Amino acid sequence: MSDKLLVIGEARDGELRNVTFEAIAGAKKIDSNAEIVGVLCGSHDLNESAQEVIFHGADRVVIVKHDHLETYTSEGYSQAVMAVIDDESPDGIVMGHTAIGKDLTPKLAAKLETGLISDTTDIVNDGDKAVFIRPIYSGKAFEKKVITSGLTFVTIRPNNIPVLDRDDSRSGEVTGKEVDVKDIRTVIKEVIRKASDGVDLSEANVIVAGGRGVKSAEGFKPLYELADVLGGAVGASRGACDAEYCDYSLQIGQTGKVVTPDLYIAVGISGAIQHLAGMSNSKVIVAINKDPEANIFNVADYGIVGDIFEVIPKLTEEFKQV
Ligand code: FAD
Repeated sequence: MSDKLLVIGEARDGELRNVTFEAIAGAKKIDSNAEIVGVLCGSHDLNESAQEVIFHGADRVVIVKHDHLETYTSEGYSQAVMAVIDDESPDGIVMGHTAIGKDLTPKLAAKLETGLISDTTDIVNDGDKAVFIRPIYSGKAFEKKVITSGLTFVTIRPNNIPVLDRDDSRSGEVTGKEVDVKDIRTVIKEVIRKASDGVDLSEANVIVAGGRGVKSAEGFKPLYELADVLGGAVGASRGACDAEYCDYSLQIGQTGKVVTPDLYIAVGISGAIQHLAGMSNSKVIVAINKDPEANIFNVADYGIVGDIFEVIPKLTEEFKQV
């Protein structure tokens, strides 16, 4: 009999996050014959999202709808997902390695006294075993893990496993699961949204990241223009955040976000080890720095030695022509 794998979906502002589809693709890589059961939690109608989950490869979907699930809380979501796990007795549970995935999966794994393979960047097959690849030592090496027994949680790093082609001819059962979500100690008083350029940093295919070399908040404007032309997002080093050139939500690195876009343009960033920990696995890295000895050039595929205030406007103009 094939495995049954649960994939816990994530939505933001009612829109499913791409990492949900990447987690489905990850589950297929674990076992291409497994039954994939999507799990969606929320307080609003999730039927349309459930169809999307099926179109992207799930066989069926379980929806847990409750007022307490409007916004993510550890207590609420763990009760909801635990109830589905009890019902379904899955062989594995897959989720995005996002802020929510990083909070929820260890909590559930600890409760169930079972394993967790976190931050997986790829899954390959070795004979009949799935091998999970994940970065260690701040991305300087990769380790391979296999599951030897029992239910295991797996989180998938966003932007690493390609989603399956959307197939709207697929169909599957969508069921509701009643869960009495209670004893929520966390009270969300207000959700304050940071102004963003619309592209989610952790899921962006192109990132233009600025460092202390950008010199000011004003200096970030040309980076936003370049990111806009490329359909990307703006990120930053901690140096730039500490200097108050931009918000900490943009910070990339060991103590910031870990990103793996197709193209990472590092602008006036020296390449400290803590910054590299968050971006060195990007597919193509372009570094722009006036110091030819800057460490960022050691990880860059393409380097431009020059003044960012001259180079960035020229790049933006060139890309506008394409
Ligand atoms: P700098 O090191 O000052 O580099 C600025 C660069 O800009 C220089 O290379 C300079 O040549 C170049 N430059 C200046 N002017 C121009 C110009 N006009 N044109 C072109 N180039 C120019 N850092 C992170 O980024 N992310 C983290 O998550 C993180 N976590 C940390 C955790 C810990 C525990 C510690 C101790 C540190 C952490 N840091 C982190 C900080 C890290 O060590 C560095 O201090 C920081 O990354 C430096 O930022 P920067 O490269 O922007 O600045």
